Amino acid sequence: MSVEIPSSLQAFVRGLNPEEGVWIAGKARAASDGKTFPVYDPATTEVIASVSSGTRQDASAAVDAAEAAFEGWADTSPRERAEILRKAFTLMLEQAEPLAGLMAWENGKAMSDAKGEVTYAAEFFRWYSEEAVRSDGDYAVPPAGGTRLMVTHKPIGIAALITPWNFPAAMATRKIAPALAAGCTVVLKMASETPLTALAVMRILKEAGVPDGVVNMVPSQSSADISETWLADPRVRIISFTGSTAVGSLLMQQAAKRIVNSSMELGGNASFIVGANADVDAAVEGTMVAKFRNGGQACTAANRLYVNASVAQEFKEKLCAKVKDLKVGSAFTEGVEIGPLVNRKALDGLHQLLRDAESEGAEVLASAELPDLEGYFLPPQVIEVKDNSSSLFQNEIFGPIAPILVWSDEEQMLKDVNSTEMGLASYIYGDLQWALRTAEKIDAGMVGVNRGLVSDPAAPFGGVKQSGIGREGGREGVREFQETQYFSVAW
Ligand code: NAD
Repeated sequence: MSVEIPSSLQAFVRGLNPEEGVWIAGKARAASDGKTFPVYDPATTEVIASVSSGTRQDASAAVDAAEAAFEGWADTSPRERAEILRKAFTLMLEQAEPLAGLMAWENGKAMSDAKGEVTYAAEFFRWYSEEAVRSDGDYAVPPAGGTRLMVTHKPIGIAALITPWNFPAAMATRKIAPALAAGCTVVLKMASETPLTALAVMRILKEAGVPDGVVNMVPSQSSADISETWLADPRVRIISFTGSTAVGSLLMQQAAKRIVNSSMELGGNASFIVGANADVDAAVEGTMVAKFRNGGQACTAANRLYVNASVAQEFKEKLCAKVKDLKVGSAFTEGVEIGPLVNRKALDGLHQLLRDAESEGAEVLASAELPDLEGYFLPPQVIEVKDNSSSLFQNEIFGPIAPILVWSDEEQMLKDVNSTEMGLASYIYGDLQWALRTAEKIDAGMVGVNRGLVSDPAAPFGGVKQSGIGREGGREGVREFQETQYFSVAW
């Protein structure tokens, strides 16, 4: 089977000139040593483009540009910053079609997921255009009297942003928008699997009126060279990272040397609880979103399904019927709902996890069909596990596998739910009062109550325990990029 990529999308990618993908002070350039790296279509394994692989020298040049632009940007009025962000929102939606196509191509995600991501990503520009002008502070009489306290929030300084491949647009805009709203300048490194979307975002920001040097970007295959350079540079005041817990921990150790502020959005292992009094059809619909959106390659993806024994049979039958019918393939084939995994390593890792689960007695209940393509496809499947120690429950799956554990003892189920070191998202279906009461006991930064989706630009996104530190989105998102300063005023 062959996949036909629209010629307009191919032209869009050529127009991005990926071989000059280092973006510094508003200009595109090649890497300082002229090297590039290939970006692949995970549905076919064919090369899409070669992108410049930035060096330590490029990383330093990006900080030079961010430093030169900082004072001017921090001094612009909040209204001016708001107008620019609002323009970026409009421009992003105007380019929704090529942007969705680009993400579907380099990431492999289904076209409906890619379109949804463009809207979600653009909304961060709109939300932070609105937050940019809501500056607040405090003025108080201290208990002892005699003086006055004034509290203000100012831009933290140059922000280093590092993003993953699973949401190539949204993970970038969720950081860039609040940083710019706060008055910070940024240097960005996105994942080497999906650098093309970010090249398009740079052009949108320039067209929206972001001054040269305010946003700089260094794609690179040598991630550590870039992050080490930035974390060793005394001009960088915050590292904002989204990715795996292992890399987040490494970056925090490097940040500790200079006490660099660290905002960490890390791995997940979300529980999805179905109670005895749940609407089973709604819970199945919620599972399809929480588990299979983005092919399961989401930090918020439902990773452990705890289903009450009284509804388990009906839930399993209904979920299996839906999963069997999922259409898997390239995003450029009509009707495809699930794409490939991002690369060979991810596919091999999941094959191993499935072998481990099988040896532990897990049973495959249903599985979808695979397309006749070379890419990194894994059939979406429903698996019943024997107990909470299953490898599928103990690891972040990051793929289209829905493992189910049937429960009857609520206390034990809650212990199991909270037994992980991760605490990003959770979902619960059932009577509202029971669901809310139980949700309060779950160790997670976000809980979907009778909903399979928690992401919302207006909400504080983030996790507890090893899932991260800090929040992105909502009102909290700007605070990550601000420093609090107080004046003690003689009276
Ligand atoms: P990753 O940690 O491998 O990579 C993330 C980024 O770090 C990429 O830009 C990568 O190039 C870079 N990187 C990798 N190794 C590095 C190193 N040694 N030094 C410096 N930078 C390095 O993660 P991933 O595979 O791209 O993404 C999947 C993970 O991200 C999952 O664990 C997922 O849960 C997590 N994630 C979390 C959120 C969230 O908001 N909490 C969102 C999306 C993804």
